[in-house]
Amino acid sequence: PLILGIETSCDETGVGLVRGCELLSDEVASSVDQHARFGGVVPEVASRAHLEAMTPTVHRALDKAGATLADVDALAVTAGPGLAGALLVGVSAAKAYAMALGKPLYGVNHLVGHVAVDQLEHGPLPKPAIALLVSGGHTSLLLVRDLATDVQQLGDTVDDAAGEAYDKVARLLGLPYPGGPPIDKAAREGNPRGIRFPRGKWGDGTYDFSFSGLKTAVARWVEDSTREGRDLPVADIAAGFQEAVVDVLTRKAVDACLEHGVEHLVISGGVAANSRLRALAEERCGDAGITLRVPRPRLCTDNGAMIAALGAEVVAADLPPSTLKLATDTSLPVDRPLAA
Ligand code: ATP
Ligand code: MG
Ligand code: FE
Repeated sequence: PLILGIETSCDETGVGLVRGCELLSDEVASSVDQHARFGGVVPEVASRAHLEAMTPTVHRALDKAGATLADVDALAVTAGPGLAGALLVGVSAAKAYAMALGKPLYGVNHLVGHVAVDQLEHGPLPKPAIALLVSGGHTSLLLVRDLATDVQQLGDTVDDAAGEAYDKVARLLGLPYPGGPPIDKAAREGNPRGIRFPRGKWGDGTYDFSFSGLKTAVARWVEDSTREGRDLPVADIAAGFQEAVVDVLTRKAVDACLEHGVEHLVISGGVAANSRLRALAEERCGDAGITLRVPRPRLCTDNGAMIAALGAEVVAADLPPSTLKLATDTSLPVDRPLAA
């Protein structure tokens, strides 16, 4: 079946078309530039941008796939988690399309979509798999027995998400928003072992994470340098910060695989685009005999194809479609791939 996926949880209006694990099109309109000067996403601005981008993005995705609305067999839409107003635009549009076309609609989980998207690049996800989800709002380790029906959270961040830490540290260093890409770039010029930053919740025997202490340590560095009139070693701070983040992420992800006897690790979400995370995960998985799957960077950040990919799983699992009563849920838990 041909699945059309709609994503509007944050600042990307994404529409994708998939058939099983086959990616047919993936169109994204981002309002990120409109938020840049505020240093974070402004919800009202995002909602309005979704409203304006929705119809053209749907049509671009259909055109790229060589399909028409009449060819669509089912729709999937992000029901949560995300920004209330932003989610509402996507869910309302999806309901309208589903009703007009007389096709089933599935309200699905954005976070599980971040994991499901990997199937479009690497084929069916082996069962079970461990997923490290690292995005702007979340940092979780998941035991995925089935994408549509069985996702269990092993650990979570107790404070900032990994992407949030990148964004906050970039701001401290005077780098642009979103902070992941410029820190990734600056870190390549720096020494990752020059400044050693704290590894939050290192070796505490849980699969939880903490990044706020790390952020505070960077802030202290910046304050001290400024007070003493020294030039800020931006590249070395970026490299040291990044090393602290990816060290803990990869260590705990590998530990989770070993403890649960799972041979496959998938890393996804916006921070999975990070070059150092990809390299260190590859190295540590290789040493531990774990097969690593990381989608290409474009699929790691928010898009509609990931929602269509999860929709395809839900359809294949024969789960009941959502009704037109489908509500958005700003804090939909990750263990519910399909919203009510
Ligand atoms: P969530 O999925 O939790 O609702 P989100 O959808 O806003 O949050 P994503 O779009 O998946 O998050 O990811 C955005 C985050 O990814 C931002 O915090 C951004 O800084 C980070 N990011 C993007 N590219 C990189 C990179 N190369 N290195 C590190 N972080 C990155
Ligand atoms: Mg985004
Ligand atoms: Fe996301």
